Amino acid sequence: DSADFDSETDSVCPFCGVGCQISVKVKDGKVKYVEGINGPANEGRLCVKGRFGFDYTHHPHRLTKPMIRRDDAPAKGLNVDPGDLSTHFREASWDEALDFAAGGMSKLAQAHGGKAVAGFGSAKCTNEEAYLFQKMIRQGFGHNNVDHCTRLCHASSVTALIENVGSGAVTATFNEIENADVAIVIGANPVENHPVAATYFKQFTKRGGKLIVMDPRGVGLRRFASHMLQFRPGADVSMLNAIMHVIVEEELYDKQYIETYTENWEAEKEHLKAFSPEEMSGICGIAPDVLRDVARTFAGAKSAMIFWGMGISQHIHGTDNSRCLISLALMTGQIGRPGSGLHPLRGQNNVQGASDAGLVPMFLPDYQSVMDDGIRKSFTDVWGSEDFSAEKGLTVTEIVDDIHAGNTKAMYILGENPAMSDPDVDHAREAFAKLEHLVVQDIFLTETANYADVLLPASTLFEKSGTVSNTNRQVQMVRQAVPPPCDAREDWWIEVELAKRLGLGWTYTDPSEIFAEMTVNMRSFDNITWDRLKTEAVTYPSLSPTDPGQSVVFGDGFPRPDGRAKFTPASVIPPDEVPDAEFPMIMTTGRQLEHWHTGSMTRRAKVLDAVEPEANASLHPKTLRAMGVEPGEMIELTTRRGSITIMARADRAVSEDMVFVPFAYVEAAANILTNPAIDPYGKIPEFKFAAVRVEKA
Ligand code: SF4
Repeated sequence: DSADFDSETDSVCPFCGVGCQISVKVKDGKVKYVEGINGPANEGRLCVKGRFGFDYTHHPHRLTKPMIRRDDAPAKGLNVDPGDLSTHFREASWDEALDFAAGGMSKLAQAHGGKAVAGFGSAKCTNEEAYLFQKMIRQGFGHNNVDHCTRLCHASSVTALIENVGSGAVTATFNEIENADVAIVIGANPVENHPVAATYFKQFTKRGGKLIVMDPRGVGLRRFASHMLQFRPGADVSMLNAIMHVIVEEELYDKQYIETYTENWEAEKEHLKAFSPEEMSGICGIAPDVLRDVARTFAGAKSAMIFWGMGISQHIHGTDNSRCLISLALMTGQIGRPGSGLHPLRGQNNVQGASDAGLVPMFLPDYQSVMDDGIRKSFTDVWGSEDFSAEKGLTVTEIVDDIHAGNTKAMYILGENPAMSDPDVDHAREAFAKLEHLVVQDIFLTETANYADVLLPASTLFEKSGTVSNTNRQVQMVRQAVPPPCDAREDWWIEVELAKRLGLGWTYTDPSEIFAEMTVNMRSFDNITWDRLKTEAVTYPSLSPTDPGQSVVFGDGFPRPDGRAKFTPASVIPPDEVPDAEFPMIMTTGRQLEHWHTGSMTRRAKVLDAVEPEANASLHPKTLRAMGVEPGEMIELTTRRGSITIMARADRAVSEDMVFVPFAYVEAAANILTNPAIDPYGKIPEFKFAAVRVEKA
């Protein structure tokens, strides 16, 4: 009842890329209750995280004072008690902490050149905060060594989309499934990772839609699937090429669409000849008749969509995986009409917006190349600053290697936790310990913050205002429901204060001013104004000041030369390391319904932590029996990078030669085990495949 609360504020859920709109109910200065409201992506629905995962915002571990590492602190490592920072840090005023943070970065940049300082920004911050972050590195240090967690989730998907359809965002919102009759969901587990989107997928099957689920794990949507293809891990390209081979062989493709809207078809057609279902079945583990049936079902659809997740993107062949999905949609003409399209399901609540805002090493806002002199000038004209490097910057994992090489000496890390999320994470932790100056801006003492020289206490999404963009390209307003605790501040304010001390002359006093600057060089924001967003969510592109935005794009061609999308053939590449006698099983990683990414928020949310309190790894019951392990007992997982001890859980959805490990648990950090080998195009690590040995602990 409204009378039970002091205030009710409309905002957006802080967790996943679905971007559910919420009403935040506050009593006595604290968030007491969250409920779903009628946003375009959720129509009142919420999942357990959005509904019950809010109380981390008032957790006693919140960073509430700026802090500077003590001169007599022990050596840097994962050794700080998040409940008592005083052994390693001392409180400081904002002025002292900001001077120290900016001064340390300036000093190293002056001594060694701007490239001594690199930045990781955050997909958990607003569009305005992401924009300011990339601007600070480019304007302040003159280069592009700035990245964020998109590198670890959909960088390969974005690379393939930009290459082949000319834009990195989805071509259709997930709500378009209402107009589809066939949909593929591949390498994604929306029931746990995009739960509200999954409700639309389930409704689609209830009204007769055919759902084709493809995943090495028997993910939750299988109960609703017309076809469940549990293919061998890493065999995506062989399976998808076999399906496309059938479409070519049986001439099920859309000739007119291909002729009008695409290029390189003949090369693709020729390439696919070598991938018959009979040949590929041995690689992907799916029977030829099933591959043929899926090909006919998809090609026979009036309107079909393809959804994918990190099972597609997090491979050394992640870009090739996405190229195959794009080719499948192009050859069947399934882009640009209601109920058709390509949709990589984005992870973090604002990973779309942060990528759009230029928080990546190769692109300025709106995916405009840093290598183009005219584009850089259009930004430096607005910024009133000097030109900066035309060289693509280093990515998240490359920056870690650059620290080890002794070149990057300082970092500014905002709301990102690479000491948990990077592959081969011990290698990353060693790098952060080596940094001469590490500025961490966050809400908790994350694992990364353990290595900080200065801690800047930031704000949760409940404590700030700004805009975020979800997986559907819907730009929505986040509104402050409670003030940040004690001396914590909104992230944009901290960025501005740092920039002032770096001599950049920033004068923003409100996020609306930052948004207005973004619209100057971002055509995706045409017709979208701060005032409009106060009253409505707008899907970009919006064609007029009253257009709510385009749910489906590219109905009349693509933003590429001659308006044509491109087929890029993909060949089968084996995983970087394959199981052998020493490491005979396959490990894959991911999320669980209750825990979000590195767990810093959800493990501090009472309800969510009560449901999933302990690190666990899932194996098939037969595998556990063969090892003499009961569910609930401890096992040891070892890869070429290291070992963890973790509780075994029985799960028939995992095939007998696999183990699934969520990456939210610091006490059994999955990324100690993962393989840092990267996709050569999207530079995304191979989180989804490592050779592992499993033993009773
Ligand atoms: Fe939040 Fe995603 Fe759940 Fe919606 S589906 S409530 S955005 S976590």
